[in-house]
Amino acid sequence: MFNYIVIGAGFAGSVLAERIANVLNEKVLVIEKRNHIGGNCYDYRTKDGIIVHKYGPHLFHTNYKDVFDYLLNFTEWDIYHHYVLGFIDGKKVPIPFNLNTLYEVFPPSLAKKLEEKLLSKYKYGVKVPILELKKENDKDLKFLAEFVYEKVFKNYTAKQWNMRPEDIDPEVTARVPVYISKDNRYFTDKYQAVPRDGYTKIFENMLNHPNIKLMLNTDFKEVLKIDFENKKIYFLGQEFKGKLIFTGMIDELLDFKYGFLPYRSLNLKFEIYDKEYFQEAPVVNYPNNYDFTRITEFKHIHPIETRKTVILKEFPKTYSPGTDIPYYPVFTKENRELYNKYKEEVQQLENIILVGRLAEYKYYDMDDIVKRALEVFGEL
Ligand code: UDP
Repeated sequence: MFNYIVIGAGFAGSVLAERIANVLNEKVLVIEKRNHIGGNCYDYRTKDGIIVHKYGPHLFHTNYKDVFDYLLNFTEWDIYHHYVLGFIDGKKVPIPFNLNTLYEVFPPSLAKKLEEKLLSKYKYGVKVPILELKKENDKDLKFLAEFVYEKVFKNYTAKQWNMRPEDIDPEVTARVPVYISKDNRYFTDKYQAVPRDGYTKIFENMLNHPNIKLMLNTDFKEVLKIDFENKKIYFLGQEFKGKLIFTGMIDELLDFKYGFLPYRSLNLKFEIYDKEYFQEAPVVNYPNNYDFTRITEFKHIHPIETRKTVILKEFPKTYSPGTDIPYYPVFTKENRELYNKYKEEVQQLENIILVGRLAEYKYYDMDDIVKRALEVFGEL
């Protein structure tokens, strides 16, 4: 019946299903464990009409024109620039730490001196990862690097990853650089927008096609059997000779035979308040106070007129397989080796394609996943 089976209805799976259905005009079955589509991008409206991101804040930003053009096909988008404040020494200041932040946390004369030092060393507009800034020999820049490291990165990273910044992949902390600029935005990508009616609409429109059959509430193991020894896949007892696009956890595919791939998970605590706004920015980070890392207020992201507001506090935690949601892959060298071991074995079956944050064990942003899914489609 189907030439393609897709496991998982997040961005990776939905983009591929949509392309296969629309462009190849082939039938595709999408199997999704949860009772909804959209993966961790899933959002919904509360009874007050406030759009809430069920699995934490999702802010779309990209420099890939092809990705944004593609996504424009599935919903209306509103231009949206994201702002984050960090609660540092009792004040809420711009994050990423930038030239404006200097003047918020230091007396004017010191801020000016540090600004001049930074501008003599780096060109305006350059983004400097904190671990790079820490290598500076200049006494003032050393002082600044130490300050930012201690006040912005050290404790946040301890909460988020249970590690020191130097012990995680440098790309993780480089996502939030020290920005030699007076631009307070969190992202500087060319295209920054939010879907007017929420992210779920995108997935509804991608998957609403006569060639796509969707099975919700279905663990792939209920309907698929993968015989790695004989290199065969069975769907409901019958041999399946088409392509299997897998976007779930790769270790689950092989029954965790080499052990669990580690992730960081989150406890998400939503709170509703009877007031117009809770805080002055969409996201406030709390590197050094409380057990949560940040508070998101959704009305700032999806504006709506109501006297209520919904906020979200994120409490990072170790991932327990089977109970927690695997939000972030923890890519230490050791974990990558474990991932590669799984990957090599899975790749012995040529008709399995691995795509997405879980299947590839990568810290993909939304636009990276769409880009990757479109590339995989190109290869199909
Ligand atoms: N980070 C930090 N302090 C901050 C913001 C970020 O230490 O105020 C570090 C932390 O290690 C975090 C990483 O930078 O995990 C990436 O942050 P980002 O906001 O990109 O994380 P995401 O939104 O993907 O959870």
